[in-house]
Amino acid sequence: MKLHEYQAKEILNKWHIPVPRGVLISEADRTEKEVGSLGPPPWIVKAQVHAGGRGKAGGVRLVKSLQEAEDAVSDLLGSRLITHQTGPEGAVVRKVLVEEGVEIASEFYLSVTLDRTSGLPAVIFSPSGGMEIEALAVSAPQLIYRENVDPALGWMPYQSRNMVYRIEALPEAGVMKQLGEIMKNLYDLFTACDCSLVEINPLVATADGRVIAVDAKLDVDNNALFRQKELAALYDHAEMDPLEREAGQSGLSYIRLDGSIGCMVNGAGLAMATMDLIQAAGARPANFLDVGGGAGEEKIRKGLEIILSDGRVKGVLINIFGGILRCDVLARGVCTAAAAVSVDVPLIVRLKGTNAEEGRSILSESGLSFHVARDLAEAGALIREVMAGNHTEEKV
Ligand code: GDP
Ligand code: MN
Repeated sequence: MKLHEYQAKEILNKWHIPVPRGVLISEADRTEKEVGSLGPPPWIVKAQVHAGGRGKAGGVRLVKSLQEAEDAVSDLLGSRLITHQTGPEGAVVRKVLVEEGVEIASEFYLSVTLDRTSGLPAVIFSPSGGMEIEALAVSAPQLIYRENVDPALGWMPYQSRNMVYRIEALPEAGVMKQLGEIMKNLYDLFTACDCSLVEINPLVATADGRVIAVDAKLDVDNNALFRQKELAALYDHAEMDPLEREAGQSGLSYIRLDGSIGCMVNGAGLAMATMDLIQAAGARPANFLDVGGGAGEEKIRKGLEIILSDGRVKGVLINIFGGILRCDVLARGVCTAAAAVSVDVPLIVRLKGTNAEEGRSILSESGLSFHVARDLAEAGALIREVMAGNHTEEKV
């Protein structure tokens, strides 16, 4: 579960990691009175969306007067920010954080995440902060330092020293001390908040020797939300894809992707295999959707509705292995859904397993138009036809 930068910074602050003073704005007309409390300009105006790369995309702006601040705020609020992490659709900016400008002398990178190979939390630090860590890992991997942490011991002072004494241009003693303290505090925050990632990029040293988290990213492990109720309550539901939200409410595992073939499958493994099949047929899946083993008619109907309300979907592949979910139940769900919503794209159905025959006859007697595939090869061939735009509206 992702949090916004301003929320992450409030949490950092609680854990004694310094952050710039800031005010959150969600309506343009509130700029004047709030921004005045930050002290004199320059200020930084920052779009609050659940994606990084905002700086390069124009979502982080340095302003030098109240007028400039107001312009930047009203420009950003309600706009769609497209960064390399949002995908081409971008993310709508609903909140903006205005902060006191920090005078940067040097930029570091600091994060805590889980190292799945060793099964331990890892603190990652780099004296070359500000840029994307993925790019740095390619261009200068020797500048990324790492310390795995034994959870029984926690972050040890020697580990702070291991990190900061590796910096080639050694910072002044005060900065080194603060960096070490921030590493410890960030590690403690990571474990106490059940994070899967907490990242500060850049962590800044100012000309007057203070160390401040200028950016913050915090992801909480979804599996810990049952005991992190305060954090769970911070989640901004507006940031979620509306279709994913709807699917979640209906108990469907749905993830929107950027292809054009919608797919509905029972079982995560089969869903992955079906996405491969779609790729192999020269198309790209529009989504991942696992209706689950014991899905009933209602869930099937909801799943198909969600797939069809995605405007990019040019065809739908329903690939069901009838086990606990019987093929006749699926067929009835598909028929009710297809009758209730207008289906103007081809529906390809492949049924195997329990009551497959019965399922097929329900489809064929429905009076609706389906393409029934007997096996996966046939399903693949039908997808190719859909992509070529020459499918025929034949009945079962
Ligand atoms: P991101 O691009 O989404 O990671 O957003 P960041 O919060 O990291 O901001 C992008 C860049 O803006 C940072 O790497 C800094 O170089 C710059 N920046 C952000 N806040 C300040 C600030 O207070 N002062 C200065 N001078 N630069 C800032
Ligand atoms: Mn950043």
